[in-house]
Amino acid sequence: MTNNLKIFIGNWKMYGDISSLKILRRINTFLNTKKSKMRPRVIMCIPSILLYPFSKYLKNSKVSFGAQNCHEIDSYGPFTGSISAKMLKKAGAKYVIIGHSENRIEGDDQKKINKKIKSAQRQNLSVIYCIGENLTQQKKKLTFKILKKQINSIFLHKINLNKLIIAYEPTWAIGSGNIPRAEELKKIFSFIKTIIKNKIKSKKIPKILYGGSVNNSNIVSFLAIKDCDGFLIGGASLSSKKFIDIIKKCYK
Ligand code: PEP
Repeated sequence: MTNNLKIFIGNWKMYGDISSLKILRRINTFLNTKKSKMRPRVIMCIPSILLYPFSKYLKNSKVSFGAQNCHEIDSYGPFTGSISAKMLKKAGAKYVIIGHSENRIEGDDQKKINKKIKSAQRQNLSVIYCIGENLTQQKKKLTFKILKKQINSIFLHKINLNKLIIAYEPTWAIGSGNIPRAEELKKIFSFIKTIIKNKIKSKKIPKILYGGSVNNSNIVSFLAIKDCDGFLIGGASLSSKKFIDIIKKCYK
């Protein structure tokens, strides 16, 4: 691996309870005892109700905390069942996932997603912005068109790039066990980086991650993608062993 700083983001989705703290404790212990050459950045996007207790129990830990979604209004308001970026921040989150395909399916369109990103950044949260095509779009060979639109939206809405991580997650790869071919991924990552580079003058572009069925067996197949800065990991982030294995294999 050329770049030894990789980002590993876990997405627990609607799983976990107070007893899941042990998963994070084990990951933190591993990060504290890892070989000095390894400098992984670990962010766990956990259910919002666990943010406050976990960030208190794991104060000063190497694991940073993130949430999985937020409301488009950033502070308070009469929105039953919703959680704002301000509330997440106060509960210990530094990051929030926005635009996950599971939320897009539930009705988060691009307009809403843009509002949510702005709202999170107003509260100083860093946004993990999920992009990617669905199966129908992939079959129709629309991947590049969809990605271009989703990336251009960042510039159209003047999103703060300093507080943005992009996660390329083809919907069809999430939780399915199917992953894109390495050759295809190389093209996609280079395409995403090129669009961004052409839009900005600065050399510092947002980190770009891959997400979709990453596990401790297939992780090595992603290491050849040189433009990939890390991974967004769903299912495998619920097991400290699998998650730690993924990290270890990235630094072999
Ligand atoms: C995700 O939910 O973002 C994800 C990548 O899930 P999984 O790793 O389980 O496919």
